[in-house]
Amino acid sequence: MEMLKQTINGRMCPFIKDPDSDCYCTKLDSRYTEAMILFCSGAYERCSIYKRKSASSKLSEDTTQNPI
Ligand code: SF4
Repeated sequence: MEMLKQTINGRMCPFIKDPDSDCYCTKLDSRYTEAMILFCSGAYERCSIYKRKSASSKLSEDTTQNPI
């Protein structure tokens, strides 16, 4: 419950519109509900999936702008 108090700040993860299959918001399982509320609707910078997707997006952006 303490985790839930740390979130609900009105910020949604930018990847929620195009989530990966392992994103919490795609899971229809109550085991992921707390993580979905904490990360997807608030502290997404702390989500390991967000970090991976951000790094991947940045890498893709870099190679597009600076092709070898
Ligand atoms: S917070 Fe994490 S799990 Fe949720 S949509 Fe963003 S990347 Fe996916």
